[in-house]
Amino acid sequence: MQTNASRRDLAKAFAFMAAASAAGPALAQSAPAAPANVDAAVKAAHAEFKGLNEGKNADYIPALAQVPSNYFGIGLVTPTNKSSFVGDIEPKFSIQSISKVFTLALVFQESGEALIENSIGVDATGQVFNSITAVEQYKGKEMNPFVNPGAIATTGMVKGGSADEVWRKILGIHSDFAGRQLDVDQVVYKSEADTNQRNRAIGQLMSAYERFPGDPAQAVDLYTRQCAIAVNAKDLAVMAATLANGGKNPVTRKQVIDPRHVPGILAVMATAGLYDDSGKWLFHTGLPAKSGVGGGIIAVSPGKFGIGTFAPPLDAAGNSVRGQRAITSISNALDGNPYAVRPV
Ligand code: GLU
Repeated sequence: MQTNASRRDLAKAFAFMAAASAAGPALAQSAPAAPANVDAAVKAAHAEFKGLNEGKNADYIPALAQVPSNYFGIGLVTPTNKSSFVGDIEPKFSIQSISKVFTLALVFQESGEALIENSIGVDATGQVFNSITAVEQYKGKEMNPFVNPGAIATTGMVKGGSADEVWRKILGIHSDFAGRQLDVDQVVYKSEADTNQRNRAIGQLMSAYERFPGDPAQAVDLYTRQCAIAVNAKDLAVMAATLANGGKNPVTRKQVIDPRHVPGILAVMATAGLYDDSGKWLFHTGLPAKSGVGGGIIAVSPGKFGIGTFAPPLDAAGNSVRGQRAITSISNALDGNPYAVRPV
């Protein structure tokens, strides 16, 4: 049953979608965006949406409710390392669900795509991200790696002889994508570890359906830690740009993952990156993206740019309100929609 508050939230979310739809997708140009255009687009989006006060911080993880709601940072990085950073780009926040992208990249790199496709699948569940009903309905199959059951299983598939070894690899790939050594926000980790009974239940259930090897409690703990990795908007932009650049970090020039794994990662982002609004998001932007309940979003225009945004208040679907608006505006200004091409 919907409460009045959730109806209001939904109405707001749909008002946003109507506004985005009126803007329409821009048609792609053959030349990449000039740096001056990039900077102008990022600044314009920040100025336009910084006063937008819709949405609400996530509070089911108590520490997330304490993050100042007015933070708003945007970063954009291109494959040739042209960049633009505006607003609150230094404050750190927990990466949350966006980590699911990079742990998936690690499993693709170590074990190949077939392991994921055959065990937890790559379709959307059509249910909320922490649905237990979905696990039961599909016996842990057809979960996809970006909802909690699939993500916990994905973390449980990372190879390693000990929890420490697995953790070093998970933190390592996140750091390689960001181009600097990342670490965990211990306050957020503890806050979630103390309140994640539901994820623990999901881990046990996925293990009961034999969707991943090893100890489910360890997989949930490592998953909780990966969600508490501290990043800023700049980091997210570089991480997104690494995906936009075939898995090669445009800042450090390190090839973080094999380019052949990137299309599969972007496809899962397109399918399930923005919770239950993934279809609407793709419809309006065409951009593979992933959001987290900490207020971050990454979006990728393959070959053109990666964007990272940070703004904590979320809409009814769990996606940052200002982040979605800013990315849509910037991408429209820079012809970022990969499906919008000029006929020849
Ligand atoms: N750590 C969060 C959870 O498992 C991540 C949720 C999210 O960002 O979608 O509930």
